[in-house]
Amino acid sequence: MKANFDDRIARATELLRTNLAARDLLTFYRELALYQKPVYEELRSSEQTDVRALMKHFPALLELVRRAGPEQLAEFGAEHLQAPAAQEEVLLAVWNDHGGDAVASSEARRCDARVLLQPYAEYLASKGRIDTAATEVTCPFCGARPVAAVLRGEGDGAKRWLLCSVCSTEWPFRRVACPNCGERDKDKVPVYTAADFDHVRVEACDRCKTYIKAVDLTRDGRAVPVVDELATVALNIWAENRGYTKLESNLLGL
Ligand SMILES: [Zn+2]
Ligand SMILES: [Zn+2]
Repeated sequence: MKANFDDRIARATELLRTNLAARDLLTFYRELALYQKPVYEELRSSEQTDVRALMKHFPALLELVRRAGPEQLAEFGAEHLQAPAAQEEVLLAVWNDHGGDAVASSEARRCDARVLLQPYAEYLASKGRIDTAATEVTCPFCGARPVAAVLRGEGDGAKRWLLCSVCSTEWPFRRVACPNCGERDKDKVPVYTAADFDHVRVEACDRCKTYIKAVDLTRDGRAVPVVDELATVALNIWAENRGYTKLESNLLGL
């Protein structure tokens, strides 16, 4: 069910051909996924579960960000992440607090660490036993917040899942409920759609003023939620202009 790195790379490549507005984002994301794939495979083949095993991959990531990433991310890497001690510090800080808000204020600080932690956390999740009957607002495996919702066909309707921003675990969640504050009054959790994106919608909450984007696989079965979420950045701007704050940023800090 879960999209592997090859699926993500292929989807980014496909969207690059048609989605001109998100071209730069998709190009950079594709590079990141190409970088993450061998990190994941190495962890899996070596059965490495110590987060410090990621340290040796840090220099190549900084080089990739310098070459292909957004300017402020490249600058942050050059200024603050050259020393191995600084790399380890940020990696451990983000890993130890990925469910909390302490690091949320510095997206640049978080970005590199999250690119590395994602394949690591996915590897751990692939080994773990996850209670997918959970209906919590945070990931039942790692405790992080969801980066997107996913709608999958089931029976005559669609079932809603939440996709973890760190370990990519999906867990079922109520169809009509805010994944931040739990609001269930359907008048307070409006859904917005845009003509440009038939299969991605904004699910907002008027109680806590957050939003999450939902990728509807019943409308586009080829969509890969983590990639389609990222490719529809125009919807973020739309939602944020209406006073909603994104529940959790994606890998690119958006
Ligand atoms: Zn998780
Ligand atoms: Zn809410």
